[in-house]
Amino acid sequence: MNPAAVIDTHMHGHAGITGAFLLRGEQTALVETGPKSSIDKVLEALRANDVERLDWIIVTHIHLDHAGSAGTLAARYPEATVAVHEVGAPHLVDPSKLWSSATRIYGDRMQELWAGIDPLPKDRIHVVRDGEVIDLGDRKLLAVETLGHAGHHHAYLEESSGVMFTGDALGIRLPNIGIARPATPPPEFNLEMALASIARIKDLGPEALWLTHFGPADRPGSPTTVEQVCEEAAEALLKWASWVKDGRTQARDPRDVVELVVERVREDLEGRVSDQDVERLESTTSYSMNTSGYMRYFDKLEAASSS
Ligand SMILES: [Zn+2]
Repeated sequence: MNPAAVIDTHMHGHAGITGAFLLRGEQTALVETGPKSSIDKVLEALRANDVERLDWIIVTHIHLDHAGSAGTLAARYPEATVAVHEVGAPHLVDPSKLWSSATRIYGDRMQELWAGIDPLPKDRIHVVRDGEVIDLGDRKLLAVETLGHAGHHHAYLEESSGVMFTGDALGIRLPNIGIARPATPPPEFNLEMALASIARIKDLGPEALWLTHFGPADRPGSPTTVEQVCEEAAEALLKWASWVKDGRTQARDPRDVVELVVERVREDLEGRVSDQDVERLESTTSYSMNTSGYMRYFDKLEAASSS
């Protein structure tokens, strides 16, 4: 059973990289919102689906590509409660830190890429805890804490269909490319936790995995099992980890480390995907962001072991 409609937010003008999911039952829920810069696409899709009322806006975590328009949508749909991890909740009420932390990654392109973030009144938030079930009437969503990509993150298992909305816990996997690409932004990325979250998702035995980037996980031309998707996501995390580690031993300047990682990733993709698809993959997560997430993680590990 198909639990939800996939809404393509056309983030940054690209089709098929960032989704939101519309679940309709006795109650209506939107899982993920996309950034404020693409809210028109989401509103258009909600109108096309005759959605007049949203009961829930549920975000896996508060990064701008997942929750950037939560405040704007909540104002538009006054019945909606916004469900978010407790560590993320205060940053939707006062998004200033979220904005400044993203500015360290995106610099002067913030407005163009994300178009701001509207604050959310505190009384519109429902803080979600691990293992909690959000009851939509005939559909139920089990919150599964899955840290690593961020220090606050839930995946959601829709119990009647077995579909799991995995947010960024499995990184990125574009449906017509079918290659796992890690999403490891600083400052919170934690490799060990990310691997544990993937194992947790696999152990729960969902029927299908739906990624925010993007949609039902599959590989072109061949059905892919949940186990394979999880294993490939873990392998990709470990491969990138070894490339960043090598880069760190070979170069001092972080920009040179990024260059070395770019080389290794492109080498790895060569012959497996077209140049155009390499470009699409690269539009989802930048090398500098992923590399600095790993470097920050390794720095923290080293600091902890030497203290
Ligand atoms: Zn994301």
